[in-house]
Amino acid sequence: MPEPERHKFAWMDFVWLAFLGGLALLHPIVEIQKQLTLLAIGVFQILEQRFIRWAGPRGRVYSVIIKILLASLLVGHTGGINSSYYLIYFLPVVSAAMFFGPWATLFWTTVTSGAYISFLLWVPWSAFELSTEGATELAIRNLFFFLAALLVNRFVVDSRRQSLRHQKLAEELEETNRQLQRAEAEARRSERLGALGRMSAGLAHEIRNPLGIIKGSAESLSKRLQASDAIAVELAGYISSEVNRLNSIVSRFLDFARPHELEKHPAEITPLVERALTAARERWPESKVEVERQYDAGLAPVPVDSGLCEQVFLNLVMNAYEAMDAQGGKLRVSIRAANFRGREGVEVEIEDSGSGIPENLREQVFNPFFTTKQSGVGLGLSIVSKIVDVHGGRLGVESPPGKGACFRIFLPAEESQGKARD
Ligand code: ADP
Repeated sequence: MPEPERHKFAWMDFVWLAFLGGLALLHPIVEIQKQLTLLAIGVFQILEQRFIRWAGPRGRVYSVIIKILLASLLVGHTGGINSSYYLIYFLPVVSAAMFFGPWATLFWTTVTSGAYISFLLWVPWSAFELSTEGATELAIRNLFFFLAALLVNRFVVDSRRQSLRHQKLAEELEETNRQLQRAEAEARRSERLGALGRMSAGLAHEIRNPLGIIKGSAESLSKRLQASDAIAVELAGYISSEVNRLNSIVSRFLDFARPHELEKHPAEITPLVERALTAARERWPESKVEVERQYDAGLAPVPVDSGLCEQVFLNLVMNAYEAMDAQGGKLRVSIRAANFRGREGVEVEIEDSGSGIPENLREQVFNPFFTTKQSGVGLGLSIVSKIVDVHGGRLGVESPPGKGACFRIFLPAEESQGKARD
């Protein structure tokens, strides 16, 4: 349990010094060693926390030992075994009870008690006799040391346990809060993409028809002008190729916008991921990317649309390869059984060692047409997000500072969640 920081002279320190000053004024007032010992006790008590920090892991043990020594000095200077100042031994006893567990408390109380009883060794036995009352008194004093130690220790252990419980509870609460915020962000993303999908589906259809007409016209224009005007033919060619490019963008956009008719069948996820990895390898045969596979054995099939899921993994693997560039890197792919919010399923993790995604872009990357690549379209992740959504799954991304991006896809095993939407 961390100790509170003590840098400044607190008001408790004044009270403490006043209490010791009071002791200093009591009989025997002229005994200079007594006064010096009291001063040393006061100063040590005030500087104790600093001393413990400075002394390192055994600081508390040293602190208790020093207190036993100082208390013995005081008792020694004020009459030994008969000293009325024997109560000063409560200082090391209570400190030990506060610092340690029950067994160490008992040990240090025994040491303290031994230090006190050891004054019997110094009495001049020729002129001293330990009467029954004296022995009883000594026993009572020592037993009270133990009683106080155990009482304080029990209280401290209880309060330590309580504070641990509160700390654990606070941590759990914080984690739940984080999960809730993540779930909210994911829900907002699904809504946003759903609305965008509906709006853009209409728009894409409207664009496609005139594009078809422009393309047809450009082709017949180029046929007619074939012999007569080379420049016009070239221009018609540009129109045609640009229309093709636009068409492919519109098709990909429709992929994102179109309501997915799911054809779900129980399928093993591992071969789908492997197919995506093979496709990426074929696309970048020279790549120095090293793939590390961590696949759980014997995973149960989950009901998915295999074609769409393969597209999910392909988009993510392609992005990871692109993030790591030609310099290569490590692509870690893990597939395991998982339980997400009480639902059983399979979780796929695709983690690259690229430059990662800055925190402020982590939600934006799922927006259609968001891209940081020169030749990117920015539809890959929005399509991935939508496909995972319609499977009733969950898509998350993490990108700790200084590390690459890690995409996590959970696909549930239960049938009921996977209804097509939009
Ligand atoms: P595109 O690949 O066409 O850019 P995506 O929707 O697939 O479209 O990705 C959107 C953006 O997300 C990318 O341009 C890139 O900035 C970021 N991104 C996606 N995957 C990764 C990754 N693995 N590492 C770093 N950035 C990524």
